[in-house]
Amino acid sequence: CVEISGLKKSFGPLEVLKNIDLSVNRGDVVCIIGPSGSGKSTLLRCVNLLEEPNGGKITVNGTELTDPDVDIDRARTKIGMVFQGFNLFSHLNVLNNLMVAQRKVLKRSEREAREVALRNLDRVGLRDKVAAMPAQLSGGQQQRAAIARALSMDPEVMLFDEPTSALDPELVGDVLGVMRQLADEGMTMLVVTHEMQFAREVADKVIFMDGGYIVEEGPAAEVIGNPQEERTKSFLARVL
Ligand code: ATP
Ligand code: MG
Repeated sequence: CVEISGLKKSFGPLEVLKNIDLSVNRGDVVCIIGPSGSGKSTLLRCVNLLEEPNGGKITVNGTELTDPDVDIDRARTKIGMVFQGFNLFSHLNVLNNLMVAQRKVLKRSEREAREVALRNLDRVGLRDKVAAMPAQLSGGQQQRAAIARALSMDPEVMLFDEPTSALDPELVGDVLGVMRQLADEGMTMLVVTHEMQFAREVADKVIFMDGGYIVEEGPAAEVIGNPQEERTKSFLARVL
């Protein structure tokens, strides 16, 4: 579903991604862990071309995003992304947050966009918040609304960049629950997270990044439960 090979990304002299190879099969959940500054967010941002790679190849569902002739806007509609915070348009209510890109980008009718929005609000347990403004929602509800908005575009893959790390602890579970449900439904997901329990239970594959490389990868039970590399061991000793 997602194929990354030889991916390189620098900011000026700083080489952030040095040579990343990664493949994510359809329906798989890949969790990315690693220390601050290791390039996790940059990797996700390259996958939906918020950052332009300096080298390598990224293919999502057969479309090579790094092909200079590709229609980036069109390709990007197939890739949903949820960040740490500030996801929603603050001046639009929840329903309009979910409808605007469907209308503008996918050219859906008002009626269809509303139906899709309501269906996805149901999926994340927020049907009763359809008319609320973002500021009236808890952080966890805002993140669930952001997930519902991304799902309303019918993505082929969902990217999550620490979606729970800005939340109060008691709100984290609801958001992880929605992500778990998505995983169970067969969504292809790339998730940067510090939630090791989630990674252990949900990930098909865990990737440990450090210094712009994938240092170790494999099933969660191996990478988190029985790491082989020193750098993975010392990272996990700090976070577990
Ligand atoms: P964290 O766990 O703190 O979120 P991360 O693994 O997501 O870290 P990145 O955000 O990918 O790390 O950043 C990797 C490196 O790239 C850091 O040194 C960061 O300062 C640098 N960097 C990221 N974005 C830019 C940018 N737009 N311009 C310059 N440097 C950047
Ligand atoms: Mg980051």
